Amino acid sequence: MRGFQAVFKQYETTHPSLAKVHSIGQSVQGKELLVLQITSGADKPREVGKPMMKWVASMHGNEAVGRQLVMFMAKYLLANYGTEDRVTKLINTTDLWLMPSLNPDGFAAGQEGDCGNMASGGRGRENANMRDLNRDFPDQFRDGQSQEDLVRGRQPETLAVMTWIVSNPFVLSANLHGGSVVASYPYDDISSHIQSGRKSVAPDDQVFQHLAHLYADNHATMHLVNICPGDDFLGGVTNGAQWYDVPGGMEDFNYLHSNCFEITMELSCCKYPMGRELTKEWKNNMESMLQFMEATHMGVKGVVKDAAGDPVEDAVVVLQGIKHNVITTKHGEYWRLLNPGTYTMVVHAVYLVNSKLKEV
Ligand code: ZN
Repeated sequence: MRGFQAVFKQYETTHPSLAKVHSIGQSVQGKELLVLQITSGADKPREVGKPMMKWVASMHGNEAVGRQLVMFMAKYLLANYGTEDRVTKLINTTDLWLMPSLNPDGFAAGQEGDCGNMASGGRGRENANMRDLNRDFPDQFRDGQSQEDLVRGRQPETLAVMTWIVSNPFVLSANLHGGSVVASYPYDDISSHIQSGRKSVAPDDQVFQHLAHLYADNHATMHLVNICPGDDFLGGVTNGAQWYDVPGGMEDFNYLHSNCFEITMELSCCKYPMGRELTKEWKNNMESMLQFMEATHMGVKGVVKDAAGDPVEDAVVVLQGIKHNVITTKHGEYWRLLNPGTYTMVVHAVYLVNSKLKEV
């Protein structure tokens, strides 16, 4: 099978207004970290108000199912735009970014048919410097929080994706793994770093639970009890730390350092199944993936403007009772994922009026 690079380039050629290939950096061995953007007007700047959503697969290089699902999804979306209403609406209203591999060096070292297990990890899990990328992010309990602490000593793949996350207004993200079948939500570690069994509650726990259930409930098997040996989950979801403590993971970085909410999906018992298994995995996951992308639109969204009608950047959107704020973009946009309910929302902003700072 051809690598996804050639496939993505072809999509860009055949669908120039819907698909665009980007690189967010290079791996240790110099491979491009490629992402396919799919949205209406992909050849133009993003429309104000259109939310960004991303799929990041295979940061553990040998966990290969997510890599293939992302490619299947790209093909499905482009093939059905303009004919399937659901797909057309999704692409017209959402700026989708699909990354099949955050760890291409690890993938190259992996072996088709090598299932690995949760304990051993398996060959190709780490990057070419033998570092586990899902332990390489700044951690809220383990690391200092200065700008220097955030970046010092990190792997090139980690720095590339950190930069990408903080420089774009992503709203929702999925982090695709393998070795179990479960949707795992923040936080992924706890201050005591107790190995397992202790939930680490994020301020948006209710939203995270909803998103994890959305994926698990619409998956062909995830919501069923204990699919893989050693699994012990209720309804196919778990809090990350409750399952096991993961300091330095990517999903917590998204939540703590950007406006983006990320869920980790473990997609298959076997980390790198034979290629013939992949069509079945696509059928298992397709509806979950579509609903997860559609969830980018849940909650409230808008544009914050000043008295003169100009957009206000860096305004702070506060939900009473939830200690997690989102910040407006340079166009004044915000997206605040929320479950259905009644909320009190306040926006704080400091901006210049006649060259003087004014607070609202
Ligand atoms: Zn993994």
